[in-house]
Amino acid sequence: AGDTPLIAVSDLAANYGHVAALKPTSLYVAPGEFVTILGPNGAGKTTLLRAITRLIASSGRIAFNGRDVTGLRTHDLAKLGIIMVQEGRGLFGEMTVQENLSLGAYSLGGSSADVERRYAKVFELFPRLRERADQIAASMSGGEQQMLAVGRALMADPKLLILDEPSLGLAPRVAAEILSTLGNLNKAGLGILLVEQKAPLALKLAQRVYILSSGYVRAELQTHEIKSHHDLARYYFH
Ligand code: ATP
Repeated sequence: AGDTPLIAVSDLAANYGHVAALKPTSLYVAPGEFVTILGPNGAGKTTLLRAITRLIASSGRIAFNGRDVTGLRTHDLAKLGIIMVQEGRGLFGEMTVQENLSLGAYSLGGSSADVERRYAKVFELFPRLRERADQIAASMSGGEQQMLAVGRALMADPKLLILDEPSLGLAPRVAAEILSTLGNLNKAGLGILLVEQKAPLALKLAQRVYILSSGYVRAELQTHEIKSHHDLARYYFH
C-alpha cells in the first residue's frame, strides 16, 4: 500500500550495561522522506542509529518496506538497502579513494554494469573524488573524507541512507555542501535518516524531525511547524 513506511521501528531499546541509553522508541521514515533526528549531546542519537542497523544489540521490532526484518544482522540489512554512514566516517585510511569506494559495493551483489553505474553517479555527485581516485583516504581533507564516506555508502545502492553527523568537524561551507548533496539525493527519491547537530541546515532539508532527549523521543514535528529555535529548545531539556 502507498502508506507502507520505508522503515518503521517500534519500541526499539538499547542498553550499555545498566545504562538505558535508548528507551523504547518508535519512529518511521516514509518512502522518499528526509527525516532528521535532533537532540542534545548524550541524548542517544548515535545509539538509536546503531540499534536500527544492529551495530549494537537492541530489542524492539523493525519493518522495512512492510517486511519484518527484526533479528537480521547489519550485513543482511545492508543487502536490503539500509546503509549507514557512521560518525567518524569509518574509512580505510591507508587505502585509496577508489579502493574505499569499491569496498562499498563489495559483497552486496549487483552486476559489474551496476557497479560501474554507481561509480559514475558517485563521481558525478562528488567530482573531487574522481580527481582524487588514487589518493590515500587518510591524506584527504575532512570534507573530502566525508564525501568519500557518503560516496562509499552510495556504492552499496541504498534504499535508506542513515547518517550520523556527517558535518561533524567540517567548515560551515563544506558541511553545507555535503548536506545539500543529501538534499539532492532525497529529491531524486532516496529516503534519508539524518542525525545532525547543525539544526538550521538539517531543518532546511528535512520534512520531519524527531527530537531525542535522555534516550527517548520528546517530540515529532513537521519542519514547517518550526518557526524558531525556541520551538525546538523547549524539548531539549526538561
Ligand atoms: P552526541 O551528540 O554527543 O554524539 P548522542 O545523542 O549520539 O550524543 P549517544 O552517543 O547515543 O548520544 O550516547 C547516549 C548515552 O549512552 C550517553 O550517556 C553515553 O555516554 C552512553 N554511551 C554511548 N556509548 C556507550 C558505550 N559504548 N558504553 C557505555 N555508554 C555509552
